[in-house]
Amino acid sequence: MEIIRIPRIVQDTCRKHVLKGRSIGFVPTMGALHEGHLSLVRRAKAENDVVVASIFVNPMQFGPSEDLASYPRPIDDDIAKLRTEEIDLLFLPDAALMYPAGFATTVHLDRLAGKLCGAFRPGHFAGVATVVAKLFHITCPTRAYFGQKDFQQAVVLRQMEKDLHFGIEIVVCPIIREPDGLAMSSRNAYLDAEQRKAAPVLFRSLGRAAEAIASGERRGDRVREVMRSVLESEPLVQRIDYASAYHPETLEELETIGTETLLAVAVRLGSARLIDNLLLRP
Ligand code: AMP
Repeated sequence: MEIIRIPRIVQDTCRKHVLKGRSIGFVPTMGALHEGHLSLVRRAKAENDVVVASIFVNPMQFGPSEDLASYPRPIDDDIAKLRTEEIDLLFLPDAALMYPAGFATTVHLDRLAGKLCGAFRPGHFAGVATVVAKLFHITCPTRAYFGQKDFQQAVVLRQMEKDLHFGIEIVVCPIIREPDGLAMSSRNAYLDAEQRKAAPVLFRSLGRAAEAIASGERRGDRVREVMRSVLESEPLVQRIDYASAYHPETLEELETIGTETLLAVAVRLGSARLIDNLLLRP
């Protein structure tokens, strides 16, 4: 596995692969890698000739009061994990090369980016879209792999890919969970033992809402109440940012449950802001 820090060199390397007719699978991450990330890497390996991953804690997608400084950065462990997966190239840029002085261009979405997490993290999805657009240009992927864990991110990036004609296949992979249902996340490291025990409440709230829908509930507000009541029963949940049923493409909150429904939740638990979701399909 090659490790390259300079965008231009990664771009040259990836372009050479493309010229030789090789497919490139790209997995962008912020590091602190867990089985969720590795599931993306394995899928990319199964479907492409060359696998490129990136680790970059993108300052542009963090708000001023968010966890940029404290975000976990176990870089040696991450490198060891990616070596075990035998990927071809790890792009490890430093922020000064990604955002040099005078940097002025941002990818902004008129729709989608203000909903769900976007309502609580202003500017977050512009930061995500901008860095992913840059990473796409640098790594020239055939396919790019994202987790359903960050459902809104996948929706936003699909829209960006389409709007800006990247010609890249966006592959969204299933959520990898701990045995008790908690979605794996680098931010789970912020939880103390008690909070960790409480954290599966997110998945439970999704499960209870799914059960209500399976039993015939069609009123969006009733589904929302079911989710909120499960979350409110857990005293360590300090704040519920959202917990409701949404249309999986428009991300509009549903008054009436449709054939395709996204159940999604974001809460504050200790110093961690945790998100989870469940996609119900016919
Ligand atoms: P992050 O490092 O948190 O930016 O995540 C990098 C990629 O891994 C994103 O596409 C995430 O959606 C994906 N990811 C994170 N956690 C999981 C998980 N538990 N299961 C599947 N994919 C995940």
